[in-house]
Amino acid sequence: MQWETVIGLEIHTQLATASKIFSGAATAFGAAPNTQACAVDLGLPGVLPVLNLGAVQRAVRFGHAVGAQIASRSVFARKNYFYPDLPKGYQISQYELPIVGRGAIEIVLADGSSRRIGITRAHLEEDAGKSLHEDFHGLTGIDLNRAGTPLLEIVSEPDLRSPAEALAYARAIHQLVRWIGISDGNMQEGSFRVDANCSVRPAGSTALGTRTEIKNLNSFRFLQKAIEFEVARQIELIEDGGEVTQETRLYDPIRDETRPMRSKEEANDYRYFPDPDLLPVEIDADFIAAATADLPELPAALRARLCSQYGLSAYDAALLTASRETADYFAAAVAAGGDAKLAANWINGPLAAALNKAGLEIAASPLAPQHLAGLLARIQDGTISGNIAKQVFEGIWAAEGDADAIIAARGLTQITDSGAIAAIIDGILAAHPEQVAQYRAGKEKVFGFFVGQVMKQSRGKANPQQVNALLQDRLTPREDTE
Ligand code: ADP
Ligand code: MG
Repeated sequence: MQWETVIGLEIHTQLATASKIFSGAATAFGAAPNTQACAVDLGLPGVLPVLNLGAVQRAVRFGHAVGAQIASRSVFARKNYFYPDLPKGYQISQYELPIVGRGAIEIVLADGSSRRIGITRAHLEEDAGKSLHEDFHGLTGIDLNRAGTPLLEIVSEPDLRSPAEALAYARAIHQLVRWIGISDGNMQEGSFRVDANCSVRPAGSTALGTRTEIKNLNSFRFLQKAIEFEVARQIELIEDGGEVTQETRLYDPIRDETRPMRSKEEANDYRYFPDPDLLPVEIDADFIAAATADLPELPAALRARLCSQYGLSAYDAALLTASRETADYFAAAVAAGGDAKLAANWINGPLAAALNKAGLEIAASPLAPQHLAGLLARIQDGTISGNIAKQVFEGIWAAEGDADAIIAARGLTQITDSGAIAAIIDGILAAHPEQVAQYRAGKEKVFGFFVGQVMKQSRGKANPQQVNALLQDRLTPREDTE
């Protein structure tokens, strides 16, 4: 039987506000435990929550960026459950009336193809505290610094059809929240956490299968691995005559498997009801306009423009828009006169590799966009070949100067004088009569040997196109000389 995978993601992204969603306590990461939890976060009697305007503005920016309807009236609700890191005994969330309604986002897959994935809703809520299981000799410590940190929970439609699509979607949301400046997306610090709902169904079927939900995935690699494992587990279970149980599972990265955590709770277990301490949030067109006025060109629009304006491939455009910093780098290189296609190749190729190796972000690149443009100009005007350009690139990276200075200092100017190249070729052919005979007898591979010899003797500087043409010319017997 052929199986189809169905995945929907719930993503919790921490909104980058200075203070919490319902109190004035700071949200900065890494403070000593319980130094950033005030009476409101602790749920002490008699305190009242006050909504943070910055959290609302950020949710609106997100909704606008995914083309969603922003609710003119949304309502906070209490989600009741008991856990030690939740002192109030309920989490303030949104239930029936979320701030952001239906929207969509475009994902780009590795082959350059793209798909639109539906977003069901996004709602504002507060985070819980943290239970600390280490350092307490068998006891559990509670740190409430995170309690009340603003979250936007972004819920996708069950539109994703493979672990790779789920990964591409999670990356697209991560890219977008950083792009529009509403979250730092820091996964190590828990600012971006994913719950993956997975099910399988016979290919061609339209009914949804029973799903499991894998909680709290905080790395892209684990997200993909967890879904891969879970899909294979469900298929095997069903093929062996079993049934998938709807439940919440946890991924164990060490064993690379998912394990049951608890049976799935139903919404009515939470006894949701509107929070009587908070007014409904009412938003008008002016508020939306003000919150979204400074939004930059969004990744999907920029990708489309890079393809149409510069003829870049969808894949290259996707790489260049992976972050705003990368897109800005490309724009600066082109503004400095760099050829767009060459710039794309060099940014996505050698520059990305060098940054990766050095563990640097593109904003901290030792090779500035203007430097890259200078290098590309010398490739374009034929001063250096693409191969020699790699040496020049390394020189600029090592702060030896700009492209022109390095080409001059290292004597790397390409040899384009055909008389000079012909002289090198003639010398080499004369020194290797045996290989010349082999080539003329039909052993075409030997051609590469001659190219190699010419390049070696010219220290890589001979213009490769001219070398090829002149070698062809010299090695092809002419009728008049036969
Ligand atoms: P809950 O809030 O109880 O987890 P929802 O119905 O709101 O449940 O769905 C949560 C997520 O699960 C959504 O992203 C949705 O797309 C996804 N989902 C729902 N049903 C399925 C299914 N059968 N298979 C895969 N994903 C599903
Ligand atoms: Mg859920």
